[in-house]
Amino acid sequence: MNKVLIVTGGSRGIGAATAQLAAQRGYAVCVNYLRHQEAASRVVESIEQLGGRAIAVAADVASENDVIQLFNQVDGQLGRVTALVNNAGILESQMRLESMSAARLNRVFAANVIGSFLCAREAVKRMSTLHGGDGGAIVNVSSGASRLGSPGEYVDYAASKGAIDTLTIGLAKEVASEGIRVNAVRPAFIYTDIHASGGEPNRVERVKAFTPMKRGGEAIEVARAILWLLSDEASYTTGSFIDVTGGA
Ligand code: NAP
Repeated sequence: MNKVLIVTGGSRGIGAATAQLAAQRGYAVCVNYLRHQEAASRVVESIEQLGGRAIAVAADVASENDVIQLFNQVDGQLGRVTALVNNAGILESQMRLESMSAARLNRVFAANVIGSFLCAREAVKRMSTLHGGDGGAIVNVSSGASRLGSPGEYVDYAASKGAIDTLTIGLAKEVASEGIRVNAVRPAFIYTDIHASGGEPNRVERVKAFTPMKRGGEAIEVARAILWLLSDEASYTTGSFIDVTGGA
């Protein structure tokens, strides 16, 4: 069976590392991105240089129309999707809850929660044996924040990841008998650009001393956990979580 993977937010950080590792493991990869076309093109080129197959597709996962177009494009160019990594996610400036506007809450929940639901919906339509599909695997990128709560920084972001955990548990049970496994990784303290969005680009350097391993993590260390959950090695694993947090 052709292995076809969509990585949302595949242009940078954890998504880019996942796209590259997946290509090495034989997946044809759709590198979805929001704005950074050059970064997405670089990921595609790095895959092609190693003999892999990849396309870059711009789509805002928070937009139902964009998500439908994204999956249709993959149908046409790579074939029926067999794997989805719901990785696209955002956080905004560090602040306490009493300062958060409704507009911000809408942005964070739209990208992180609605986006993952919409992509999961389109994936299930194509993977489920109920709809004539051959099955597949979904990995949601949650966060250690769903357990820790991110007080004083972004409780909204942490709560959006709590919703992703529940999505993982519920959807896993809903589609378990239809050939689809749904799992999640919960990273924390990974060196990527996301911390700059919170206003603290060097956040990992500040907090690493408080982690049991006393270091931050690399995107590839998350990607390896994601690829294991996607693989047949994880064939009896669904509704599960891998914490990639250096022990935190
Ligand atoms: P990042 O470096 O900021 O990259 C974010 C990626 O998501 C980019 O490819 C971006 O595309 C894309 N994106 C953002 N909003 C999007 C939207 N609405 N539609 C489509 N794509 C969108 O982030 P990261 O640190 O790799 O984070 C990836 C995931 O891991 C997120 O879900 C995050 O919550 C989670 N996570 C990260 C950490 C950490 O320490 N880094 C810890 C726990 C969980 P453009 O390049 O076009 O902007």
